Amino acid sequence: MELNEEKSYVPDQAVTDFRNVVSMMADLNEAFDMSTLVARLSKNIVDSAKQVNAKRIEIETIPAGVSELDVARVTHLTVYETEGPEFDGISYECVMPDGETIRCGITIMSLYPEDIQIQKAKWLCEMVCLYVSRAKLGSGFIDMMNRDTDTGLPNMQTFLDFGEKLFGEFKITDYCVVALNINNFKFVNQTVPFDVGTSVLIKYAHKLSGMIKEGEIVTRFGGDNFNVLLKKKNLENFLSEIKKVPVDIKDGNLRVHFELSCYAGIYMIETRTAIQTAVERASDAKNNAKKYPHHPFVYYNEEMGEKQHYSNQVRAKFGKAIDMHEFVAYYQPKVNIKTKKIIGMEALVRWETDGEVIRPDRFVGILEDSSSIIELDRSMLRQVCRDIKRWESMGIDVPCVSVNLSRRNLTTENIADEIAAVLDEYHVDHSKVEIEVTETVDNAEFNFLADFIGRMKQHGIKVSIDDFGTGYSSLNLLKSLNADVLKIDRSFIDLKEFTEQDELLVKSIIDLAKAYNMEVITEGVETEEQIAFLDRCGCENVQGYFFDMPLSKVEVTEIIRKGYYDKDIKY
Ligand code: C2E
Ligand code: CA
Ligand code: CA
Repeated sequence: MELNEEKSYVPDQAVTDFRNVVSMMADLNEAFDMSTLVARLSKNIVDSAKQVNAKRIEIETIPAGVSELDVARVTHLTVYETEGPEFDGISYECVMPDGETIRCGITIMSLYPEDIQIQKAKWLCEMVCLYVSRAKLGSGFIDMMNRDTDTGLPNMQTFLDFGEKLFGEFKITDYCVVALNINNFKFVNQTVPFDVGTSVLIKYAHKLSGMIKEGEIVTRFGGDNFNVLLKKKNLENFLSEIKKVPVDIKDGNLRVHFELSCYAGIYMIETRTAIQTAVERASDAKNNAKKYPHHPFVYYNEEMGEKQHYSNQVRAKFGKAIDMHEFVAYYQPKVNIKTKKIIGMEALVRWETDGEVIRPDRFVGILEDSSSIIELDRSMLRQVCRDIKRWESMGIDVPCVSVNLSRRNLTTENIADEIAAVLDEYHVDHSKVEIEVTETVDNAEFNFLADFIGRMKQHGIKVSIDDFGTGYSSLNLLKSLNADVLKIDRSFIDLKEFTEQDELLVKSIIDLAKAYNMEVITEGVETEEQIAFLDRCGCENVQGYFFDMPLSKVEVTEIIRKGYYDKDIKY
């Protein structure tokens, strides 16, 4: 079947790409036999077809000397089909060693222009060609069924089969598993068009493939993750090679060069361990490596496994827990030490599950690794709005309630507008809610934070800088941030002795904050000595166990109804 140029949706470049692949495959000069092929086409090909949005794949052969019109003699096989109107196709000729020419056509139906993922289509074609050309060889072609359609590397199943074989042969303890992820691959995708990014990934994959020795295997594990089953004796060498992998791409006029580094987890297989377990352990170590940019290669230990297991459980239970309203707001009052009046409250999440109340340090950090934290923060904000309205309906003069917002939210576009919209939805006055965000760690985040605060100002919603003093922000940065409240971290007052130097430091932070028109509050206040110290430093507002722990809704209702503490403070 000839390519129909008029009907074709495939751009010229794609056609050339197809032809290149096809002629490359034709070079194999291998004979094929359609009858054996039929039986062997596997699920893989169908999956690949779906990936490229192919509606139908056909393979047809026309034995030498047979006219195309002589349909009776044409072997025509539809490998995969869904309904679809138009089609694009490709055909090629296979010249056999004896001179016989066999024409083979592959038709990929309805590749709409916006769907075209040339790289995938290419691999699909190649796969089909290999099926065809290797069919007669029987066993050899199975190889191609077991490959990742993007990179051509062995797929995960092949990797696991290989590992299981080593396990069966008692050789597995000679090996280690390296699970790696390319650093900042997002940057590559932001810098070059998506298909060029894919080419970079493919090149990288091929380079990895070139680094391993016989009896070893590398597979792609989704996205820019790779798993390698490596002989221990080659590990050191391999790690030094993957530290920096240069990748050059030429795409028309575009030439790009990347030096790709990675982080990796390593599991040294010491006892006979199932390959699946070994991969999971390397992957746990990889997740640890991700957290420490200065230690890109991390070896697995048992503690990691337990932590990972716990994290996985939290993540798995999260969706249902949200639906079942298991995340509950507790409230901790903020108090003015002069008047002892309640000047605000902070909403702090608790996870009430299976009769247990779990504190946020057991799950917030885990949820921050994914977008789940955004969902949690949103649900807390709504809960707070509902509580405010309920208290108001009880005739209580509700103090401003602060809600914690994970920094992950800051990159969400329109987050400030969204928060304001939620308040409006519940008819909550904008002065009744304050948002607490922690200090930022780098410039990019700083810009997001500054932008967020600016927008919140327009909405008349206060923002406080939480945990001040634990991050990297300097006092200078404070000025440009323009936040409303500075929350001084408890580490500044968690002291055995309060020296003049401590006082000078805290006092100057407070003075500066006030000079920038910020309110100041110190958190984690537990003792009278701390209150006396803060009074000397000029900080009147505190939050901490000295007055109350975070309280359930029922408990806090009585406290805010009263509106003040009559606790004696002697200092
Ligand atoms: P945070 O925002 O700094 O909250 C203050 C933490 O200090 C709370 O811990 C509170 O219970 C604790 N605390 C209060 N007074 C004292 C005291 O006198 N002494 C001591 N030692 N600690 C005191 P909690 O409730 O366990 O929350 C821990 C962290 O979890 C919070 O730190 C915040 O970063 C995060 N978090 C809590 N709720 C949320 C939420 O809804 N969303 C997000 N994104 N994070 C939350
Ligand atoms: Ca906070
Ligand atoms: Ca804090």
